[in-house]
Amino acid sequence: MAKVSINLATGSLQKEEIIVGIDLGTTNSLVAFINPDKNPQVINDAGKGVLVPSVVHFGPAGEISVGNEAKEYLITDPQNTVFSVKRLLGRSYNDIENYKDFFSYKVIDDNTESLVKIKVGDTFYTPIELSALILKELKARAEHALKTPVNRAVITVPAYFNDSQRQATRDAGKLAGLDVLRIVNEPTAASLAYGIGLNPEETKTIAVYDLGGGTFDVSILQIQNGIFEVLATNGDTFLGGDDFDRAIVDYWIEKNQLNKAEVLADTSLSQQLRLKAEEAKKAFAYQSLFNEKIGEIWCTLDRSSFEELILAKVQQTIACCQNALKDAKVDQSQIDEVIMVGGSTRTALVKKMVAEFFGRPVHDEVNPDEVVALGAAIQADVLAGNRSDILLLDVTPLSLGIETMGGLMDVIIPRNSKVPTKAGRQYTTSVDGQVNMKIAVYQGERDLVKENRKLAEFNLKGIPSMPAGFPKVDINFLLNADGILKIQAIELRSGVKQEIDVKPTYGITDDQVEQMLLDSITHAKDDVSQRMVIEARTEGEQMVYTVERFLKNNSSFISESETAETLKLIGVLKNTLNGGDKDAIHKAIDELNEFTRPFAERLMDEAISTAMKGKSIG
Ligand code: ADP
Ligand code: MG
Repeated sequence: MAKVSINLATGSLQKEEIIVGIDLGTTNSLVAFINPDKNPQVINDAGKGVLVPSVVHFGPAGEISVGNEAKEYLITDPQNTVFSVKRLLGRSYNDIENYKDFFSYKVIDDNTESLVKIKVGDTFYTPIELSALILKELKARAEHALKTPVNRAVITVPAYFNDSQRQATRDAGKLAGLDVLRIVNEPTAASLAYGIGLNPEETKTIAVYDLGGGTFDVSILQIQNGIFEVLATNGDTFLGGDDFDRAIVDYWIEKNQLNKAEVLADTSLSQQLRLKAEEAKKAFAYQSLFNEKIGEIWCTLDRSSFEELILAKVQQTIACCQNALKDAKVDQSQIDEVIMVGGSTRTALVKKMVAEFFGRPVHDEVNPDEVVALGAAIQADVLAGNRSDILLLDVTPLSLGIETMGGLMDVIIPRNSKVPTKAGRQYTTSVDGQVNMKIAVYQGERDLVKENRKLAEFNLKGIPSMPAGFPKVDINFLLNADGILKIQAIELRSGVKQEIDVKPTYGITDDQVEQMLLDSITHAKDDVSQRMVIEARTEGEQMVYTVERFLKNNSSFISESETAETLKLIGVLKNTLNGGDKDAIHKAIDELNEFTRPFAERLMDEAISTAMKGKSIG
C-alpha cells in the first residue's frame, strides 16, 4: 500500500515524502535518509563528503559559509568563525562562565540569567540561529542530493540535554525551515541503527559509549516494549579526540626540542601540526608507524607511543562508565550490548579498553561517526509510518483535549507529543452557582469536538456555589509510557477532585488515525471560520448573561432610558447570535460594551464611597 503523507505547511498531499535524520554534532553534523531499498544511508552531496564540520564563518561582506570551507577560517579568522555552538545551545551565561576562554569568538550576555549570544562583527547571533545555519546547510545538501524538498526531520541530541537545550534544538530546526517531528537521544538513535530496540518483545540493557571530537558521554539504556529509558548518563564535556591531537602535538614539540609558546604563537604552524597529528591518529587504524615532516620538524610517532600518550584520557572515560553503571544500579554482567559511537572510537586502544571493561565485544560494525544519523533516519521512517512492524508507543498520533463552550476542541496535549508527557490548563464556570462541571475528553485535530473522537466524559461534582468565573478548575492530562491517559480535574478553591483513566489508542486503527489527519487538512479552512463564529457567539452569550445579571441586581443605578437602550442593544446582540456572521456579533458586543461600560464605573465609584463612609473615624 502506498503511504500518503501530509505536508502540514501547505496542506498538500505528497507521496512518500522523505523525512531525514540529522545528527547535529559538536564537531561534525550529518544527514541521513532511508533509501529506496529501505536501508538507512548517509547523504554525500556532490562528493562534498558526508561529515559537515559544525563550523560557521562570517565573511567581511556578510557572506556565510558552513562546513569544511568555514573550518579553514578557524585559524586565519578565529573571531569570525564559530565552532562548538552546540555547547551553547539553550545555555545561560552562568552555565558557561567557567569555560568561556574555550571560545575564540565573543560569547556575551548582559543579563547572566538569560541565554547567551555570540557577537560576530557588529551582529549578535543566538546559538539557535547559528545551529539553524548548520541545519540549513544539511537541508540544502539533502534536497540537492535527493532532488526533492525536505521539510521534515528528526534531530538527535545527547541524552543529558535538558528541556531548554532540547527546545533550542527544535527552534533551530524550525528556523532552518524544518518541521522537527522528534528530538531523539543520540544513544537511542545509535541503538536503532544496530536494530536494537526495534522488536517490541525484547528487553535489554545497553551501554552506548560516545567519544567525539571534544566531548565524551556514556549512557545506560533500558529497552522494554520498544521504549527506551535512560537509566543513567555520565561523561566529560571537555574530553575527546581533540585531546588526542593535542597530546601528539605536545609530543612532537618535545621531541623536536621546540619552544611550545613559540609554536602556539605561530598560528599557521600550530594548525599544520594539529592537522598532522589528526592524520597520524587516523593512520594508526592501518599502520603502526607514522613518519612525516613539516619543514624541518619531524612528525614521527609509532602506535604504542601514541597509546601511551592517550592512555590517561581513555582511563578517564572508563571511570565515567563505572560511574554510569553505579548510577544505573546495574553491573557489567547485566549489560547486553555495548555500542561504540563517535569518530574517536575508531582508535584501537579505546575499543580494547571499553571491551575489557564491559567484558564483552563491542559493536563497531556501523561507521561510528554515521551511526547516530543513520538511527535518526530509521526513527524518521518509523514516524512516517513506513514500518508497520514497529509499534510507536512513544508519541501521540492525535491531539488530546476537552470540549469547551460552544462545542469547541481545546487541545491539552498536542499530536506528536513525546510520551510520557503531562500538560494542564485552568478553566472556570460560565454560570453563577454552577456546582457541576462536565468534562468531555476528545482526540483529534478538528476544531469542533463533534468531528473528533470522544474518549470519555465525567462530571466534576461538588464545586461550592460561587459566581461565574470564580471557581478555578485545573484539568491535567498525564499520558504515560503505556499510552494510558489519566485525566484529573481539581477545583483549587475547594479541593474537590476527580480522576479517570482512558486508553486513547484503544479501538482505533492506524488507517483511522491517518484518515482523521487527512480530514483535518481538508477541513482546515472551514474549521477555522467555524471556530471564529463559535468563539464570537460564546463571547456574546457571556456578555448577554453578564449584562442581564447586572440589570437585575443593580436596577437602581441606571435610569429608565438607559435600561431601555440596554435592553435594545441586548436584543440586537441576541439576534446576531442566531446568525453565523462573526463580524456582526463582534459589532453588537462592542456596542453593548461601549454603552454599559459607564454603569460599571458608576457602580465601582459607589462601592468605594460606601466603603469610605463605613470607615467611621473617632
Ligand atoms: P562529534 O560527535 O563531537 O561531532 P565526531 O563523532 O564526528 O564528533 O568525532 C570527531 C572526532 O573523531 C575527531 O576528533 C576526529 O579526529 C576523530 N576521528 C575521526 N576518525 C578517526 C579515526 N580513524 N581514528 C581516530 N579518531 C578519529
Ligand atoms: Mg556525536
